[in-house]
Formats: sequence, C-alpha cells, structure tokens
Amino acid sequence: MKIAVASGKGGTGKTSISASLVLARPRVLAIDLDVEEPNLSILLGCAETEALSVTMPSAKIDGSACISCGTCAKACVYGAIAWLGGGIPVINGSLCRGCGLCSRVCPPGAIFEEEQAVGEVRSGKCGGISFLEGRLRVGSVNTVHVIGETVKKAETLGASDWVMDCPPGTACPVAASLRHADMALLVTEPTPFGRSDLEGMLELTADMRIPSALVINKTGIGNVPLEDLCRRFGTEILARFPFSRSAAECGARGESPFKTDAGWAETTRSLWSEIERRFS
Ligand code: SF4
Ligand code: SF4
Repeated sequence: MKIAVASGKGGTGKTSISASLVLARPRVLAIDLDVEEPNLSILLGCAETEALSVTMPSAKIDGSACISCGTCAKACVYGAIAWLGGGIPVINGSLCRGCGLCSRVCPPGAIFEEEQAVGEVRSGKCGGISFLEGRLRVGSVNTVHVIGETVKKAETLGASDWVMDCPPGTACPVAASLRHADMALLVTEPTPFGRSDLEGMLELTADMRIPSALVINKTGIGNVPLEDLCRRFGTEILARFPFSRSAAECGARGESPFKTDAGWAETTRSLWSEIERRFS
C-alpha cells in the first residue's frame, strides 16, 4: 500500500507522523517528497549514501542569431524571459520550466536548450529502513519535476509499501505527490487554521478520487470540531496524538517521539492497525 501523509498547513506534525509510521514498520520504503524542505531522514536518524542529480532542459539564447523581436518574452507564461523592448532578451534559468515554447516561436531559431541541475534524489539505509529524499536545488522552482523523478526512482526499488511525506499546502506539489498514493493520511490539528486547510485537503483528495483518513495531532491545543468534515467527505479519524511538550522537544532536537514516548509509539502502532483495517 502506498500511503501519502499530507497536511493542508505546515507545522501539523506531518513529518513526525510519517517518521513514526516508518519506524513502526521498517520494511516500508520511506520517501520524502517535501522537496523544498526535506527532513524526514533527520527524524529517522538516517544519512544519505548516494545522490543522483535531477536535471531538466533550460532555454538559452544564441545572441548572434537573435533579431531582438521579443516574441519569446511575450510567449513565456512563466515570466522567465525579460525583454525591455530592444536588445537580446535575458532568460532567468531559475524560472525556466523547460517547456520549449520559446524555441518553437523564435523566428530565426536562436533559442536552444541545455540540461541544468534542478535538484537531487538522495537515498540511504539505516536500521533496516530504506529511504529516498527529493531535494530541490536552492533557487529552482521545478518542484514538481523533482517530485516526479523521486517517485520514478522509488518505482525501481520494488517495495510494495511506501510512506510518502508530502509537501504541505494544497497546490501542484502535493497533487503531484498524491497521484501516486493508494490512500491519503491527512494530518491536522484542532485549530481554526488546521480546520480550514484540512477542508482544502479533503476537497483535493475527493477531486482526485483518493481515499482519505485523518490523524488529529496536538489534541488539546484547540477544540475546533472536525467530525462534521469527516461526515461531509465520508472519511474517518484513525488516531489522535495529544499535544505534549516532550514531543515538541523531540522535534526541536530532530528526533522522532516514536523512539522516546511510549504513548506516542503505541498510538502509532494502533494507527497502522486502523489503516490496515480500513484500506487493505
Ligand atoms: S522553455 Fe518555456 S519556461 Fe523556459 S524560457 Fe522558454 S517558454 Fe519560458
Ligand atoms: S524570439 Fe528569438 S529572435 Fe526574437 S527576441 Fe527571442 S531569441 Fe531573439
């Protein structure tokens, strides 16, 4: 089973839950798809042993062939080409998505493409755990491409069970992660902000027809009801992790509370049982 651990908002404890699920079942493949800020390996206590570069095409202009018509700048919907009404346009390689449109519309064919590094897929093993980590290069905007390449690498490893730590939010990066999942485990907190972003995630998973279930983390930090959302979207709350100072301190030290908090570990094991009861 491929489980996507996601949350509408950051800071709900999504990565703590992902790490705990992996630590409770080390045979699952741990995949960090939060490529703008990957930190699952830290909570697992694993260090990478291999890194593969992720590249994609980036547009370049042959200044000797350019006739300064500005067509390319008008065509690029990503705003990657700056042209001030004369001279040779300037391409911002960090913003280029490698779509190839500018080279197709350039009248003299002055635009060509070169591969540029946009990130890495890192991998490693520790304590029986295999993990993969997508990591976006600083300054690059090609998040979805790095996520796609990380998943492609995962597919070559032959593991039937995955825990994917997804990016926060409800935009393209999380949709690009969810599309590889059999179910989405949505981590939220009982606060107004948590409820609002959870609703967005439930709408997204419903639109993508991905079965979902909830984990409420930090119970006691707020009392905003979430049960009505469960009824509306036909989903269930599978586990509740109480807010605790010790769990917060673990996170601050870069450790998983699964290793130090017996109650947290027990709730994680129970969560696995609930996932298997409902989704296997
Ligand atoms: S390849 Fe696409 S994104 Fe890159 S500069 Fe050309 S039109 Fe813009
Ligand atoms: S479309 Fe081609 S020729 Fe026109 S400004 Fe861009 S690079 Fe130069």
